Amino acid sequence: MTATTAHTAPASADTACRDGVDLPAVARRVGTPCHVYSASAIHARIDALQTALHGLDALVCYAAKANSNVAVLQLIANAGLGADIVSGGELWRCLYAGIPADRIVFSGVGKTAEEIADALDAGVARFNVESADELQLLQHVAAARNVVANASARINPDVDALTHAKISTGKSENKFGVSIDEARQWFASSAALTHVRLDGLHVHIGSQMLSLDPIRAALQRVAAFWRELTAAGHTIRSIDVGGGLGVCYRAGHDHPVPVNDYAGAIREALAGFEGRILLEPGRWLVAEAGVLLTRVVRIKHGRERKFLILDAAMNDLLRPSLYDAWHDIVPLVDATRPSQTYDVVGPVCETGDTFARGRELPECRAGDLVMIKATGAYGASMASTYNSRPLAAEVLLDRGRYAVVRERQTFEEMVAGEQSADQWETA
Ligand SMILES: *Cc1c(COP(=O)(O)O)cnc(C)c1O
Repeated sequence: MTATTAHTAPASADTACRDGVDLPAVARRVGTPCHVYSASAIHARIDALQTALHGLDALVCYAAKANSNVAVLQLIANAGLGADIVSGGELWRCLYAGIPADRIVFSGVGKTAEEIADALDAGVARFNVESADELQLLQHVAAARNVVANASARINPDVDALTHAKISTGKSENKFGVSIDEARQWFASSAALTHVRLDGLHVHIGSQMLSLDPIRAALQRVAAFWRELTAAGHTIRSIDVGGGLGVCYRAGHDHPVPVNDYAGAIREALAGFEGRILLEPGRWLVAEAGVLLTRVVRIKHGRERKFLILDAAMNDLLRPSLYDAWHDIVPLVDATRPSQTYDVVGPVCETGDTFARGRELPECRAGDLVMIKATGAYGASMASTYNSRPLAAEVLLDRGRYAVVRERQTFEEMVAGEQSADQWETA
């Protein structure tokens, strides 16, 4: 807990209470900064998506990287969802949290032989293969184990996702996937793959998409390719439409695609497809379920700007620094306070440690509790200990109750594994 005292001014009721839990009380008990997630909000998203997909043979494989807290993954597992993983660490986490291997798909351009071997041993459902070299490696590792790996070709459809360049993945200049021309050759020579069943297509063109147009364009390209492959005698059992559905980070400004429209676009593009449809939403399921609770350390009046200095920083929430991302910021204070314009910053020694510039907020004082909204995705999962700031606590809320699902890291835990250089070796 920070050394400041909790401010007791009444906060507006709609924001201070989430999922039936009083956030100032959580902040007092758990300390700040602290990531808070509403289980009910995640369940509501899962239910809405499942309802929108009703009648389709569809499996939702949650993109674990969005929020890989074990308690969140357990919630995902209990809801019957699968997972999309991108590393051996995520494989381990998902299995640990109880997501069955046969509901796990493995994406990523840099899968190593060891990661592929571990995934095969665990029995993952499918590999989303992103290069010819990876396809050969998969064949090699599967052959050595005398198993057959299910594989999908990740198609790079050369579609602009109309999102931030750093989270755009479906343009030909991006590192992800292969062209339809290259994938066509893979299928043409797939008979030589004795230990890989290449029977799926995968596409994921980017994240935080707020328009259906690029999603439709990518789906149409993949659907046309599926029809072409089927006509050429190949069996396509799985089409994975990826993730990328955007959320509202800025009220009144971001207008997410309604989930029924998204599902409608999938139904339309894949009409007549008789295999299984996989989806890999990450952000859409968890982002708006989370807030980052932080306290004002102090206000600093610079020559030109007024700085609202929080006890959270870029190491707790990297998105503003990395993507210039907007997050709505709500001080949990009496809404009748006059407004002020602040640069909202953290204590880290980087000018990029800025959550917002020139943001108009109710006047804040040291000790006030501040909520940074929509931090449930790519918040804690991207956190680091930069500036030797221990990882923040994480809390799950559920209908009036809360549970600490990650203890705040101690200084000792922060240096665990580091040691003095007294064991020298030569190489
Ligand atoms: C990151 C990622 C996702 C999830 O993206 P969101 O924008 O969080 O929905 C899905 N599939 C793949 C392959 C990814 O890399």
